[in-house]
This record gives sequence, C-alpha cells and structure tokens, in this order.
Amino acid sequence: MDPVVSAGIVAAGVGLITGFAAGLAFRISERDRVDPAPAPEPVLPLAVSNVLSVLRSSAVVLDQTDTVVKASPTAYALGLVQGDRLLAAPLLEQARAVRRDGEIREIDFDLPSGKRHEPPLAMSARVAPLGVRLVLVLVEDRTESRRLEAIRRDFVANVSHELKTPVGALALLAEAVGSASDDPEAVRRFADRMQHESARLTGLVQELIDLSRLQAREAGSRAEPVLVDDLVQSAIDRTRSIAAANRIDVHAGGVQGLKVLGDERQLATALGNIVENAVNYSPGETRVAIGIGTDSEGRTVEITVSDQGVGIPEPEKNRIFERFYRVDPARSRSTGGSGLGLAIVKHVVHNHGGDVRVWSVEGSGSTFTIALPLFEAAHTQPLREATP
Ligand code: ADP
Repeated sequence: MDPVVSAGIVAAGVGLITGFAAGLAFRISERDRVDPAPAPEPVLPLAVSNVLSVLRSSAVVLDQTDTVVKASPTAYALGLVQGDRLLAAPLLEQARAVRRDGEIREIDFDLPSGKRHEPPLAMSARVAPLGVRLVLVLVEDRTESRRLEAIRRDFVANVSHELKTPVGALALLAEAVGSASDDPEAVRRFADRMQHESARLTGLVQELIDLSRLQAREAGSRAEPVLVDDLVQSAIDRTRSIAAANRIDVHAGGVQGLKVLGDERQLATALGNIVENAVNYSPGETRVAIGIGTDSEGRTVEITVSDQGVGIPEPEKNRIFERFYRVDPARSRSTGGSGLGLAIVKHVVHNHGGDVRVWSVEGSGSTFTIALPLFEAAHTQPLREATP
C-alpha cells in the first residue's frame, strides 16, 4: 500500500480509537467521582475492539501493568507478543513513557525476523494513550518499503555516476579540440572519441528508458508469435562486427521453427545482450555457440549461449543480474558496457513468463540459458499446399 495512504489509515485509526478512549475515560472519571470504589479492571469496549480488528497494522493494547489486554493475530505472528507479554523492549519503554505523560510517540525499531540468516524486519510504531489506563501500540512492517527506498537511492546514485563518466570525457575532449585547432589530425582523433563517448551516453540513456518501461509495463501488450530463429539471427547480426574484430566465431544450431509469444523487439534485445556479453567477455579466436531446443516435456523453449570466456566467479553469479553490477568494472567500461544489460534480460524474460539461468566456470567460460514458454513448434502445423 502507498505509505501515505497507510499512514493516513493508521492516523485515522489512532484518532478514532483515541476518540472512543476519551469518551471511555470521561465516563470512567465521571463514575469515579460518584462512586469512590476501587477502579475496576480495564475492559476494552467492543467498539474499540472492532476498530482494531479492521486496521492493517498490528495492534496491541496494554494495561497499567504492561499486561496485554488485546493483540491482533499479526502481533502474535510477528513475535511482538507472547501470551500476555509484549516482547519488543523498545515498545514497552515507549508505552511506559506514554503512560507517564499522555503524549503520543512514534518510533522505528528492528525486530528479529525469526529466520536464520535473514536481516531483522524494519518496524515502525505509534504508541498512544487509550483512555486513562490503557496504552495502544500500532505497529507497521516497513521492511519492504525501506528496501525499495534503498534500491531507488542506489539506483539514482549509480545513474549519476554512470552519466558523469562520459559527460566528463566529452567536456575534456571538447577542451582538447579547442586547443588543438591548428592540428587537424588531433582534431579528427578527438572528434572520433567524442563520437564514441556520445554513443555510449546515448546507449546508456536508451537502456535506462528500456528498463523503466519494462518495470512499468507487463509484457503481453504487444504479444505476438515470434520465431526463435529470427531472434537468434538478429542477435548474431548485432554482434557481427565486434565478433569479427576479435576473431570470435558465433554460430547457431538446434531445433528450427520454434515460436514463443511476446514482444519481438524486447526479446531480441534480451538475447542480443547475452550474445554481446558472450563476445565481450571472451578472448579472441574463441567460439560462441547459440543452441535452440526444448525442455524434456516439450513445453519450454531453451536458448543457450555458451562462450569460452573469462567466466563468472561463483559468489557473483546471482549478483550479475542486478542493475549496474559488474564483476570487473574496468573491463566492462572498456567494452562500453552499462551494467544494465542483464537487468534488462531478467525483466524481459520474467515479463514473458520465463526464466534466465547461468552456469559458469571461472577462467573457462559461461553458458546463459533463457527459458520461455513454447507457443508452438512450426513442424506441428499442417504443411500448406504449395501454390503454383
Ligand atoms: P555490462 O554492461 O557490464 O556487460 P551486464 O548487466 O550485461 O553489464 O553484465 C553484468 C556483468 O556480468 C558484467 O559486467 C560481467 O562482469 C558479467 N558477465 C555478463 N556476461 C558474462 C559472460 N558471458 N562472461 C563473463 N562475465 C559476464
């Protein structure tokens, strides 16, 4: 849920409950004036109970001895409450302070996730008086929104960093051109490099646009049957000149005529990125093999791209699909890589209901496999009569 909306709901909940509580407190104090008998055990009015049960937050109501009078099922599930005790020490501390001065408090605190090797949950709580004796604690799990915030922050920092490099280079080159005006050869050389840097900048901006589009939109809006052979051919065409320059032999084989359903441009970009990487991360005079086949049940198309390149260290295998993650940033930059290629692959493939895997031995080579649901195999279609 939108944090603003959820904060609004929490605020409304606290307001409503505090309203009930104020009424309750008033009635209790009125009655205390008439009848000076010892205060009865605080009982939670049914209306307050009902409001608590519809709130999304985990709710806990404590009495004046810190005993839990009511707690929502999620408060138990999160491990905030056990039996009639509130276990989270920071909340207890706040509840006592609220009881002392009646001020509403807000805190953020970490809660052990209860699972080994998993980081603690990031919780956020509001603690408010409920009548004269009770204290209400409303707790929200903010782990996911904090994680997204952190990703967004990193992303912006990374983008700025990536943009700064070619922009800085362009500024320097422009300066160099200015001071080399009487040397036509140097001017030509600088102009070439300026072209190279601006192509890199354009590529990076295009990849950023692609990635944000992919994240915003599910595939399927332009789903059409796509021949896998065409995807492979376009990937080979895209890498032809760089492969030739490095004397890398890119060849394809396997089952022909398989089709998948999807957006041809996106799928071609994804496969093209993988084949381009295979070429970029391989030494000269090696081979890149593209294979097309199906899984054993014949339901999934598998496109494999194998190279004899530098390989990927085991601990990095999962990370290479993250945006801007590179095993060797210097090498990646020298090939003009943006660090976004595999993030785009992952999004495209997932948006098409598929999966991308990597197998690699450092120093020997890598195999990337894109698996996509098979739409149809051309050979299962009846052959059309040849028309004269
Ligand atoms: P880049 O633009 O840096 O190539 P990618 O997202 O395409 O970004 O790839 C991320 C990183 O994964 C690369 O920087 C590289 O370290 C590693 N990588 C990708 N493909 C291969 C490959 N075929 N062989 C070795 N390393 C690879």
